[in-house]
Amino acid sequence: MTELESVIGLEVHAELNTATKIFCGCKNVFGSEANTEICPVCMGLPGTLPRLNKKVCDYAVKMGHALNCHINNVSRMDRKNYFYPDLPKAYQISQADIPICENGFLEIMVGSEVRKIGIERIHIEEDAGKLLHDDATGGTLCDYNRCGVPLIEIVTRPDLKSSEEARIFLEMIRSILRYIGISDCKMQEGSIRCDVNVSVHEKNAPLGVRCELKNVNSFSAAVRGIEYEINRQTQIISSGGNVERETRRWDDRNGMSILMRNKENAQDYRFFPEPDLGDIVLDDESIESLNNELPELPNAKIIRYVKVHGLNYSEAFVIADSAEKAALYDECAASGKCEPRSAANRIVGEITKFMNDSGKKISETGLTAQELCELCSAAEKGVISSSGAKKVLDELISVGGKTADIIERLGLVQNSDSGFLTALADEIIACSERSVNDYKKGKSNSLGYLVGQGMKASKGKADPAKLKEILMEKLKQEE
Ligand code: ADP
Ligand code: MG
Ligand code: ZN
Repeated sequence: MTELESVIGLEVHAELNTATKIFCGCKNVFGSEANTEICPVCMGLPGTLPRLNKKVCDYAVKMGHALNCHINNVSRMDRKNYFYPDLPKAYQISQADIPICENGFLEIMVGSEVRKIGIERIHIEEDAGKLLHDDATGGTLCDYNRCGVPLIEIVTRPDLKSSEEARIFLEMIRSILRYIGISDCKMQEGSIRCDVNVSVHEKNAPLGVRCELKNVNSFSAAVRGIEYEINRQTQIISSGGNVERETRRWDDRNGMSILMRNKENAQDYRFFPEPDLGDIVLDDESIESLNNELPELPNAKIIRYVKVHGLNYSEAFVIADSAEKAALYDECAASGKCEPRSAANRIVGEITKFMNDSGKKISETGLTAQELCELCSAAEKGVISSSGAKKVLDELISVGGKTADIIERLGLVQNSDSGFLTALADEIIACSERSVNDYKKGKSNSLGYLVGQGMKASKGKADPAKLKEILMEKLKQEE
């Protein structure tokens, strides 16, 4: 049998963090007492009319630019009709035929490869309420606070090839949403959710019939759901069967997908243009000005860090995912005063650990890019040892100040006096006969051992780079 391949398309819903809801003045907040952030408009009472919150359009356009989309000058809201208790109006105002943004792409790094994932569309719509099962009565409680909370839905083309690519794509989308400040992306508050479409086909054949997984509540659940679906469909195809076009519910607890509906009972939403709202008209100038507000985005940073600076993906991600860390790193790298690699190591290591442990931002510490550069360069030049560098960094973070002053105050300057180092080198060579012989036989890592002995003997004061030079010179002469 020919090799099978899988493709995945994602529909990502992100709640926007506007101050008010999409069609009324109710506050857009999470966690209020049930049914306190509601009004006749978001409850769909007869006689009320929606008004579109302009911020919602601005935010969607920003995301459209971030994902390289075409932004439509004219788009339209439509009614999607269905009955469900979390939707008091019995229709959701969404966008069907003409979304606000379409035909974009996002470049992500998968391993060392840049992959271009097509974006079919981004549209705006309103969220529905929340249903809670009540154990006391066995009934269902409705909380309508979420009705009318603005959402964007980002729909990809079926361009993702594995669960790994899907996870990287989702992480990138979340990172971008946070960067441009339009969504809080709190998974546990349900502010970012996705539907997952999966199909399997024979290599070089057209794409297979897809199944859509609903109820995917976390990125890790998306990964598990995709893998489960690929396996399920692979088994069907391998045993000669046909995959049916289905909507399935992902049951993360039991790690399986369950049939919700098939083609015969597919829902018909009876879309029609929303009669209570006019077209959304955006002029080129305002579309362009929203583009100018965008910073360099994390996916572009990651590609730059990997391709130009030689960081690996996870290092690049840790730095780029936080605007603050990225700014710190970019400033160090641009200064030309230290090796970017050395700044990256400290940011990914100690600085990230400090931020995670303390919950503080870099701006709340004494650390600046300039002093981090000074520190890296002092370590590179051998002015201070690596353990000395750690002490200086701790000081910079907790108290602040100048790297040079701290090195001075803590007495961390290494001894690079050549007389001192030559004597030290002689001493080490004299009492490490075996390593010296190993080195001469071509075991180059013996040199590291010898330097280490010197550091020990000098209680960390010797300049390791200079000591190494002197040792090499001496060993060459002895040959
Ligand atoms: P619907 O409105 O039923 O959700 P769409 O045409 O909007 O359908 O497609 C939804 C998603 O399905 C998109 O993310 C798209 O990439 C994905 N998709 C389409 N065809 C396939 C396929 N053969 N395999 C996997 N995903 C697919
Ligand atoms: Mg869908
Ligand atoms: Zn309201």
